[in-house]
Amino acid sequence: MFKSGTIVKVLLPNVVNAGYDYRLTADADLGTFVRVTVMNRAYIGVVYGIGDSGLEDSKIKNVSKIFPSKLSVCDLQWIKKMSDWTLMAPGAVLRLIINVPDAFDEPRMEQLYSYNFEHTEKKITESRQMVIDAFDLNDNEPMSVSDIQNISRVSAGVIKTMIARGMLTPVASRKVVQSFAYDYKDMENITLNDEQQSAADKIGADIAHGGFSVNLLDGITGSGKTQVYFDAAWRAYSAGKSVLLMMPEIALTTQFIKRFESRFGAPPVVWHSNLTAARRRDIWRGVLNGEIRMLVGTRSALFLPWQNLGLIVVDEEHDSSYKQEDMGNYHGRDMAILRAKLSNFPVILASATPSEETMHNIELGRFGHLVLRSRYGGAELPTIETIDLREHRPVEYKVDSKTEDVRAGALSQKLCDEIATTLEKHQQVMLFINRRGFAPIVQCKKCGWVATCPDCSVGMTYHKKLGKLLCHICGRTMTLPEKCPDCNNDVSMRGVGLEKVEEEIHAKFPDARTALVSSDTMMSRGALERLVAKMENGEIDVIIGTQILAKGHHFPNLTLVGVVDSDMGLFGTDFRSAEHTFQQLFQVAGRAGRGQAPGRVMLQTYQPEHPVITAICAGNRDEFLHCDMDARRSAKMPPFGQLIAIIIEAKKEAVLKKFCDDLASNIPNINGAKIMGPVMAQIYQVRSWFRMRFLVAGDERAALQPLVKMWLSRVSVPANVRVKIDVNPQNFM
Ligand SMILES: [Zn+2]
Ligand SMILES: [Zn+2]
Repeated sequence: MFKSGTIVKVLLPNVVNAGYDYRLTADADLGTFVRVTVMNRAYIGVVYGIGDSGLEDSKIKNVSKIFPSKLSVCDLQWIKKMSDWTLMAPGAVLRLIINVPDAFDEPRMEQLYSYNFEHTEKKITESRQMVIDAFDLNDNEPMSVSDIQNISRVSAGVIKTMIARGMLTPVASRKVVQSFAYDYKDMENITLNDEQQSAADKIGADIAHGGFSVNLLDGITGSGKTQVYFDAAWRAYSAGKSVLLMMPEIALTTQFIKRFESRFGAPPVVWHSNLTAARRRDIWRGVLNGEIRMLVGTRSALFLPWQNLGLIVVDEEHDSSYKQEDMGNYHGRDMAILRAKLSNFPVILASATPSEETMHNIELGRFGHLVLRSRYGGAELPTIETIDLREHRPVEYKVDSKTEDVRAGALSQKLCDEIATTLEKHQQVMLFINRRGFAPIVQCKKCGWVATCPDCSVGMTYHKKLGKLLCHICGRTMTLPEKCPDCNNDVSMRGVGLEKVEEEIHAKFPDARTALVSSDTMMSRGALERLVAKMENGEIDVIIGTQILAKGHHFPNLTLVGVVDSDMGLFGTDFRSAEHTFQQLFQVAGRAGRGQAPGRVMLQTYQPEHPVITAICAGNRDEFLHCDMDARRSAKMPPFGQLIAIIIEAKKEAVLKKFCDDLASNIPNINGAKIMGPVMAQIYQVRSWFRMRFLVAGDERAALQPLVKMWLSRVSVPANVRVKIDVNPQNFM
């Protein structure tokens, strides 16, 4: 407790800040939320320690307000440790926590609109549907225009028209704070099988005993992991603790929410990036005042101001969406474990394809390993086989029956035969290709010119539905040139994206009803739900999609999964390529045959003997893991070594080069670690910033962070240069 009048250090949610000194006007604890002004602007910060600026008393300002709520001492330690680990400034970590700018303000009056279910407008365009989906994601709660725009990402014009046409109607502003405090009960409507029960008992003992532990719930989709962690959640919740269930946004489905509700008698409080500002504020406050004690959320839910947190579940722990890459670099799973360690409570990780980091921690005895082997409901596993593309060449197709135009196909006759048989039986087919758009390369037939983004050094993909070229890095669009801009000859499209696979299916199976699933078409959960309903109602014969398809859904009549290009990603640019390919293919394979009819999975590949492919066909995940982990062990790659990437960016190449030279000449002498670079980043230009990379590599026990800190402190960063630090990078572009 600091007495009134004490000079304290206040940490502000700011990228560079490590705290400023202020004078308390009443007693306050460490972690207490306060309002202060910096250059006449008000900020919310937290009391972070005793003041140490050494400034004269008269120069130190008073805090303007002291709030009754606070972060715990453990949370402050977490901020400090997370800052040490990720090399983000403590203020940047605090910004992740105070991510609701008006959390402490009274709700403002603003014009809100609700979706009018009685409207008579017939034309539901794609952007209008996105607006409707935005309402859906917020339980049809009225929204301000800025909320609608932020969540649906449509233009202001679309919203204006919808208001004019009566699709959206103005309602009085809501000034009340909404309560999300549900009273959960154990509905006791689930019987666990023996395996589930013993896993639940083991975790239950950890919860009852208290203290830090990490357990991996390891089992394929349908093995009943969810009910085991629901059981644990109940044990912690009913003991008065708060419980956080983390999952990737894409796994947060209506199916999941219904299961939660049926188990606990009320819906979960849901936290993700597409909530209205008012809802974010209400949930944030509800967590802070301890009313919300159970919540389901994405990565950022970890940073809510939790009170008395007693259990975190990280579902799909291997998923790359846990890694944050724009506003600071951290891994949600690792930071959850760190938080649990500091506050002394258990963590449950769940996955069908655990990360190699987690498997390594199990080998070392740091994490427990709870395996669920049986498939719930006893459905048979699909058979997985390869189609050797060297033998079974993809067959060309006619674009339409009127012309003689033929295009190179992506599907072999063998796969087409299987598709035909499946369709005859009125069963469904899923085709997986991890590439959006129609053709990834647009190139001149004569001089070799390739359409590239002017702001990023990557080729632009032709999107047929959009009718344009699209940059997958920055989102810039351009019209498809009719002739080569350099030599005026014809251009051709090369490579295969999912829109092209759809064209091929239409050409070869004119009666098949198809649907495309990618981040282009599935911007919202609502869109995904509609698609799931259509699949379940049998309105789709062939579903074609990217990795979004690999997750979560259960389609009983889906009996054939075809992977169009299994090799894509196998020979990727970094040491995680094989792991990610395996995880994706393994999950895709899990989509088939989950109902009564047994399923088949066919992998088209030029490399049927590749260890990743043979391991998938044998259904042998552990063999793959051992083999890939051995390779990493001998190459000293994570988790058997550590990496920190330093990415330097500037808009002027000369400035970039000079600063990199400066850094290179200041590389310290070190044992047990080496610094490589600078090299041009694989994508040299992004949004018109040029990029160079350094890579710091060290063995498992090396203390790389202090080294990087010391190195970077030797140079001063010019204002027109950005330095990004990525500890344990997942992305090497
Ligand atoms: Zn040309
Ligand atoms: Zn671009």
